[in-house]
Amino acid sequence: MEPLESKAPHVLIFPLPAQGHVNSVLNLAQLLSLAGLNITFLNTDHNHNRLVLHTNILHRFACFPGFQFKTIPDGLPDDHPRADERFREIFDSIKLVTKPLFREMMCSGQLNSATGQSVTCIIADGILSFPIDVGNELGIPVIHFRTASACYFWACFCIQYRIEADELPIRDLPSSCRVSNLADPSLQRIANKTMQSPRANALILNTFEDLEGLSPNSLFEVDRNCMVWLDAQPLKSAIYVSFGSITVMTEDKLMEFWYCLVNSKKRFLWAIRPNLVIHGEGQIPVELVEGTKDRGYMVGWVPQEEVLVHQAVGGFLTHSRWNSTLESIVAGVPMICWRYFADQQINSRFVSDVWKLGMDMKDVCDRVMVEKMVNHLMEETREILMKPIVEKARLANESVSEGGSSYCTLDHLIKDIRLMSM
Ligand code: UDP
Repeated sequence: MEPLESKAPHVLIFPLPAQGHVNSVLNLAQLLSLAGLNITFLNTDHNHNRLVLHTNILHRFACFPGFQFKTIPDGLPDDHPRADERFREIFDSIKLVTKPLFREMMCSGQLNSATGQSVTCIIADGILSFPIDVGNELGIPVIHFRTASACYFWACFCIQYRIEADELPIRDLPSSCRVSNLADPSLQRIANKTMQSPRANALILNTFEDLEGLSPNSLFEVDRNCMVWLDAQPLKSAIYVSFGSITVMTEDKLMEFWYCLVNSKKRFLWAIRPNLVIHGEGQIPVELVEGTKDRGYMVGWVPQEEVLVHQAVGGFLTHSRWNSTLESIVAGVPMICWRYFADQQINSRFVSDVWKLGMDMKDVCDRVMVEKMVNHLMEETREILMKPIVEKARLANESVSEGGSSYCTLDHLIKDIRLMSM
């Protein structure tokens, strides 16, 4: 167990008063206590009495000096069943009784730690939205904890849009969506409550990556077949081409790039996302696919960071936006910079003229010129650019290793967040 730091954050944990919610949130409370954080666990009076009566809960948490239970009424009489159809009555009583009391307890310091430390962070059940309002009012960050599965959360998140599109009822969506009346209070509650979660500072999902892992950050569907194609290409023989996620071009411009790649006679992997071409059909033009299939591979969206470190990739024809530029530097891949808008002009200027890691097309972009640049990059110029880019890649990796500049800056950031939470 981590020793309790004197300046450890003080986290208030507030579950919905239902068994499944309390269970998972108690487990989280135990983990955070083990990490040395101060925890106040806010239970309803009714549930707390039952927990104490039926479990060894007090014993389980007695070993954590920074842990305490506090209680609050749920607004229902003690003999209320709090189950089945009547469970939903708790939502009205919480709204009426618990909500104003919670605010009062927060404002008056009744939820401070045993040593008097104010709450620095709230972890509230994802079904409760009023802790977000109170957190905002008092300047305390709030994390929403969704105790159900990620797929359920996602389904609830989409309900609002399905209602608007008049697509309900749909089988296999949460049972509250099987109603025919869209004004049904349960349906409205589930939709409204879920839409509150993005107002929180962060979201905790009670699941694990291998079960419900989402594709890594990508807003587009990643096509991994390109990795198989790359595996079959000789060392450093292919140029990777991508224009990022938002840049668009006319079909004429796309064809200009295609001619340059074909005429260069180099191998290439080209990420052409479905909405790259203005007024395009979302399909890679057939003549592109047919005319290049012996040396070229075109795909909608690639796992770019993996592509850049693949041994078959020898250069990157990029639209010079910052993520792509940085990923290319970290991977040690020299660039040809096509510039179009926003930060691209500055980035390409720095890549070519200041850091000497690539070639800048400046404002000229025709098939003859680009073909020449591709050939230059993949033949003689590559050798010249490799030394500085390998050095920059080494520095980039060193900066994120223990003791490196980015590593230490991140450490400072975490310390600052802790300080700000005090
Ligand atoms: N990217 C990707 N697959 C692709 C194309 C791009 O994963 O087929 C990623 C790339 O790794 C980068 C991001 O999309 O992290 C693009 O960001 P960038 O700042 O380079 O360009 P933007 O999309 O903002 O124009």
